[in-house]
Amino acid sequence: MKPVVTRFPPSPTGFLHIGGARTALFNWLYARKTGGTFILRIEDTDEDRSTQESVDAILDSLEWLGIDWDEGPYFQTRRKEIHDRHIEKLVESGHAYHCSCTPEEIDAMREHARAKGLKPMYNGRCRNRGLSKAPGTVVRLKTPDSGVTVVPDIVKGDTAFQNAEMDDFIIRRSDGSPMYNLAVVVDDLTMGINTIIRGDDHLINTPKQILIYQALEADLPVFGHVPMVLGPDKARLSKRHGAMSVSDYRDMGYLPDAVINYLVRLGWSHGDQEFFTRNELIEKFDLKHLGRSAGMFDISKMIALNAKHIQAKSASELVFDLLPHLRQLGIDAAEDRFTCQVVETLQPRSKTLVDMAQSARFYYVDEPEMDEKAAAKFLTPESRDMLNQTADAIDAVSEYTQPALEEVFKQIMADFNLGFGKIAQPLRVAVTGTTVSPGIFEMLLALGKDKTVQRIRRAARLV
Ligand code: GLU
Repeated sequence: MKPVVTRFPPSPTGFLHIGGARTALFNWLYARKTGGTFILRIEDTDEDRSTQESVDAILDSLEWLGIDWDEGPYFQTRRKEIHDRHIEKLVESGHAYHCSCTPEEIDAMREHARAKGLKPMYNGRCRNRGLSKAPGTVVRLKTPDSGVTVVPDIVKGDTAFQNAEMDDFIIRRSDGSPMYNLAVVVDDLTMGINTIIRGDDHLINTPKQILIYQALEADLPVFGHVPMVLGPDKARLSKRHGAMSVSDYRDMGYLPDAVINYLVRLGWSHGDQEFFTRNELIEKFDLKHLGRSAGMFDISKMIALNAKHIQAKSASELVFDLLPHLRQLGIDAAEDRFTCQVVETLQPRSKTLVDMAQSARFYYVDEPEMDEKAAAKFLTPESRDMLNQTADAIDAVSEYTQPALEEVFKQIMADFNLGFGKIAQPLRVAVTGTTVSPGIFEMLLALGKDKTVQRIRRAARLV
């Protein structure tokens, strides 16, 4: 079997959206799984809508997702000569022809067909006129008048399209630019692409593309048209369902592994398994289990999956993901042991990296901001002695470890005749400014002895 060659051909008319990322992912995973090649091609032929900014945004999002490409990015607009060469070949072989009909003439043909109750379309007037290229002429593909063109599809099965419904469509405009379907086929063909997974919004183009393949006497690639992602209301996923851009999810504190895990599951399954690491996806992905029914985007499931990926990742790696979110809060943390410990304490309780950064804030500030209610409830005059004595005892330990801290707590509980919570909660408020924090010991250990002692003493002064 030939090595698999897949592609992702975004049109750079905006950011990389969730649906596009999912398509990229299917093609990338299949290439990675089979040891094949994944090609990135920028379909920038719509020059009015294509922007460099969009190209940059798309590349940036793919890189963030960890979807790497083996070839490209190729730019469709830079391949005009290749497109032209194939158009000439089609004309020479009699599969395409020059057409000089004016827009008014075409309108009249359509009107005529409509009047006869037929589908309005070009009537093939120039098909056998043997015209040559001249200013204002277009090139059309000669399409069969009868029969069907079958789109073989590994997801949907075969779909047959009536040839009689298809006119001799234009493959080169009068300004010399190739039409979309021609450019796609020529690019796919010359890039050796043999597997095309894309959204089923493109299914409508596929019979035309197949006719071009056939006219070029080329083998068809494997096609798989996947259903579009739906919103919770079962309408096609769009802006009104919330954030659409992959970069929004990065900004909201999602891990790339969680995003790819979630997106891939919106159209592919492996039994009931929900959580996949990146390597597991590469190992288990197959085309056979691409789903026929549309996946529904559910942000609460994606958050839950993100939390699981945060827990599963090593703290030292997560530091790298967290730093930009800390920076957003004005915290200039380093990629060091301290931040790694901070992450360890927050991993089990963070749904997103934004959550984690916010919860980490108290570790980095000089003095934690006191929540008034928490302070009023727990930093009372009665707790002043307890706080001071705890600070002294912690200050006196020779080794700042969990057993040493447990020992201090035991002593204070006995001296003040208080339960664990009655000590832990005021301490938590003293150190973090709030009543919610990671487990008291791990948190005090991560914070370090000096800061812990200093913060407890400060709190005792405040009461
Ligand atoms: N450029 C097209 C798009 O962004 C993709 C075409 C294809 O996959 O064949 O939707």
